Amino acid sequence: MIDINNVSKWYGQFQVLTDCSTRINKGEVVVVCGPSGSGKSTLIKCVNGLEPFQSGTILVDGTSVGAPKTNLPKLRSRVGMVFQHFELFPHLSITENLCLAQMKVLGRNHEEAHNKGLQLLDRVGLKAHAEKFPGQLSGGQQQRVAIARALAMDPIAMLFDEPTSALDPEMINEVLDVMTQLAAEGMTMMCVTHEMGFARRVAHRVIFMDHGQIVEDAAKDEFFGSPRSERAQQFLSKIL
Ligand code: ADP
Ligand code: MG
Repeated sequence: MIDINNVSKWYGQFQVLTDCSTRINKGEVVVVCGPSGSGKSTLIKCVNGLEPFQSGTILVDGTSVGAPKTNLPKLRSRVGMVFQHFELFPHLSITENLCLAQMKVLGRNHEEAHNKGLQLLDRVGLKAHAEKFPGQLSGGQQQRVAIARALAMDPIAMLFDEPTSALDPEMINEVLDVMTQLAAEGMTMMCVTHEMGFARRVAHRVIFMDHGQIVEDAAKDEFFGSPRSERAQQFLSKIL
């Protein structure tokens, strides 16, 4: 579903990604971890075309992200992205937040978009909050709305960039529960997170990045049982 081949990227003279390669199959859940500044966010932004890269290729469901002829807005609409900060539109109600891209990008009419939005709000446990505004919800609730909003586009894969790291501890689990449920339903997911409990429970594979490189790409049990690289061992010993 997501095929990353020898991707390198520079910001000016600074090489932020070096020869990154991995492959995420349909229905697979891959957790990406590593120290701050190691290139995790940059890599997943490359996957849905939010950041250009200078060499290598990324195929999403067979479509080349970097190719000049690729319709990036269309591709992006099919790959859901959830950020650390929820980025809901503050002046729109929760249902309006859910309808907007469905109508603008997918051309759904208001009723269709609204019904789909309500169905997804129900799925993330927030149907009762449909007519509220983002500022009236907790951080955890807003992040669940952001996930519902991404799902409303019927994505073929979901990318998460530290979706719980801006949340108070008591709200982390409600977001991880939604992600766990998505994984159980077979969603293809690439999740940057330091929630190693989630990784142990839900991930099929773990990628460890350091200095812009994929240092380790291993089945979950292998990663937690016996990380090969010293850098991954050190990282795990600090956060577990
Ligand atoms: P992570 O998500 O693992 O913390 P990032 O992908 O955000 O890492 O950043 C990787 C490196 O690239 C960091 O050193 C960061 O300072 C640098 N970087 C990120 N965005 C930019 C940018 N727009 N311009 C220049 N350097 C950047
Ligand atoms: Mg980051």
